[in-house]
Formats: sequence, C-alpha cells, structure tokens
Amino acid sequence: MDKKDMRKIQLLAVLIIFLIPVITSSLLDLKQQKEQAAAYQALLSAQEIQRIAEKKNYLMGKFNPGGREDFVLIPKEHTTLSVPMYLRQEAYDAFLKMSAAAKLDGIKLRIASATRNFDYQKVIWDNKWSGATLVDGENLAESITGGPERFQKILEYSAAPGTSRHHWGTDIDVYYAIPAFFETGKGKKIYDWLVVNAPTFGFCQVYNEKGTDQFAGYHEEKWHWSYLPLARNLTQEYKTLITLEDLDGVSFLGSEFVPENLINDYVLSINPECL
Ligand SMILES: [Zn+2]
Repeated sequence: MDKKDMRKIQLLAVLIIFLIPVITSSLLDLKQQKEQAAAYQALLSAQEIQRIAEKKNYLMGKFNPGGREDFVLIPKEHTTLSVPMYLRQEAYDAFLKMSAAAKLDGIKLRIASATRNFDYQKVIWDNKWSGATLVDGENLAESITGGPERFQKILEYSAAPGTSRHHWGTDIDVYYAIPAFFETGKGKKIYDWLVVNAPTFGFCQVYNEKGTDQFAGYHEEKWHWSYLPLARNLTQEYKTLITLEDLDGVSFLGSEFVPENLINDYVLSINPECL
C-alpha cells in the first residue's frame, strides 16, 4: 500500500466516522416522522368515524333540538299548538319570509309540527301501533293483528322512528295532518297558495300524489313542506350513510317487522321535484 492509498483510506475512515451520526439521526428522524404521520392518520380516522357517527345520529333524530345551536325555538304566534317547536335556523328564516308573503295575500301560515326527534316520533308510532291513537278511526292493535300488515298501515302517513324527515329540522306540517282539510275552503286556499309560492322560498311538497312513475312511499300529504336548501343534502346523506342495519336494535313497537324497502320506498321515494 503506498502513501496515496493510505491517505485515501484515512479520508474514507474520517468520512464514515463523520457520517455515521448524521445517517443515524436522519434514520431516527425518518422513523419519528413516520410514527407521527401514522398517529395523525389514526387521529383523522377516529375524527372521521366520530363525525360520521354524529351525522348518523342527527339523520336518525337522536338528539335534542333544544340543545343545539343551529336550531331555534319557533315563537308561538307561528304555531297551532303551544308545545315548544324547533327548526333549523335557515329553515325558520325562510319560513318567516314565506309567512310574511302569505300574509300580504291574506293567508296566515301556521306550523302544526316541526322538528320531531327519535323519541318524539317513537311516541307517535308506538301509540298507533298499540291502538292508543286511532288510525282511520280504528284501533290497529285489534283490527290488524299481523305485524307486517300493521306496519304497512301506519306507514301510510307516519314514518318509523329513525326514518322521518321531521328529524332533520327542515320539514314542517301546516295546520292539520288531515287530507280533507285541504280539499275545500280555508285549507284549499292555503294549499293553492303554497303550491304557487312555496318553491320561491325553498319549500317543496315532498309527499305528493303518486303517479305512474312513482308508486311507492307515503300517501299524499298536502300539509308537509320541506326546506330544500338544507333537506336536499340530508336526503342524499341519508341515502349514503343509513342502512337497515342502523335500524337494527332500535326500540319501537313492531320494529321486528321493519320491511326491507323501508329506506328506498319511503325515506327516498319522494316527489322527484324535491330531490
Ligand atoms: Zn310531516
């Protein structure tokens, strides 16, 4: 080995000694960065899972509207009953504008029902199931003993808990949930006005008369109007996020008879103009 080679080896040795800590610390940095990225990813996933769980609870009405900042209590002058009623702020603002316009045409709009959470809807449903509330003048517990048939009968005008648009704070019923009220006199005048004017304020009659292209779903409800700027997205989110499995284990009378088509033919089968 000549002197030149020795110099080269010495230089290489110095270089290696110098680089070892640099390389080691770089590797440690890299490892740390990877660990941090994985932890961040896990946090994001946990947040996403939490966000979806909260969204599903909202869509299924599992919350208290009085405890949410995006809901407002409707002043009694706008309602038919003295029980507290809530709406999402935007839906209420739109209702106020619509109500003011109706007033100019000599029509007083009043809300008979607004947000109904899961527990509220469960009371309505259970009472129809048990016969405590008569349906078409009948005690269904006596007149329809078959579970699936009784379920279908109640579905004519009532949503099962967890599947009602009233959960969202975007939908209102005006005056009476009685078809005959809207056929003549005051009711007809109100309905005719809404048909012409409600769309201007974002409201749509989601349960319309069934036609040849639309046969599934609830019967026509001339009293039920949905605020689309919010509800349109929520309908889509319901379609994406909620499955029959989410209704598994929910507690309401007759829940063991939930029909396969409940989401598709009821929640999602609405007036195509409101989609
Ligand atoms: Zn309704």
